[in-house]
Amino acid sequence: MKIVLLGAPGAGKGTQAKLICDSFNIPHISTGDMFRSQIKENTLLGIQAKEYIQSGRLVPDTITMSMIKEILNQEKYSDGFLLDGFPRNLYQAKQLELLLGENKECLDKAFLIDVPENIIFDRIAGRRFCNKCGASYHVKFNPSKAGDKCEVCGEALIQRDDDLERIVLDRLKIYNKTVQPVVGYYKDHSILETIQGNAGTDEIFYNICSCLAELYSIHPA
Ligand SMILES: [Zn+2]
Repeated sequence: MKIVLLGAPGAGKGTQAKLICDSFNIPHISTGDMFRSQIKENTLLGIQAKEYIQSGRLVPDTITMSMIKEILNQEKYSDGFLLDGFPRNLYQAKQLELLLGENKECLDKAFLIDVPENIIFDRIAGRRFCNKCGASYHVKFNPSKAGDKCEVCGEALIQRDDDLERIVLDRLKIYNKTVQPVVGYYKDHSILETIQGNAGTDEIFYNICSCLAELYSIHPA
């Protein structure tokens, strides 16, 4: 099974990716992990990517595509994979199709976990953390019993830097601008499956499973 998982930051993509890969026993390809491991191993691509990441710029498509190509050529991904965080734009989506086409392969499904923008904003902007003991809260969905302090250790709760409202909004805007064409592309190819993301983790996973079961006549392990 060769699938792509799309969804805005805060849509719960990471949680679902893990559930799908564990249940159906397919390898998870996360571009975030991919960059981290290449940087850690100090590969040429890793060194190039590091320069961009450290200065807060987007890694150019040519570097990302080279990494994806290297990964997809590995034997362990020949039977299937779940791509998480990729493709990020239309160019990458088209390049991925060409790359798979070289081996006479194609994607089976692209899942979009669709969550309204205002809900994502609430989810991310409401997160609070305790720097001392690591506890995490949400002002609306999982508030601390001690108000703006940690209910475990009493430390004042903080927002993580990347959870600040302005950054959340910027990330959503960039996401919408670059990923919407990818969504349209997969829709045109009739492989897009939109999953209503304004639901619990179990319900979202159930809906993804139903679709995969229909596609492959299989069920989660
Ligand atoms: Zn604490």
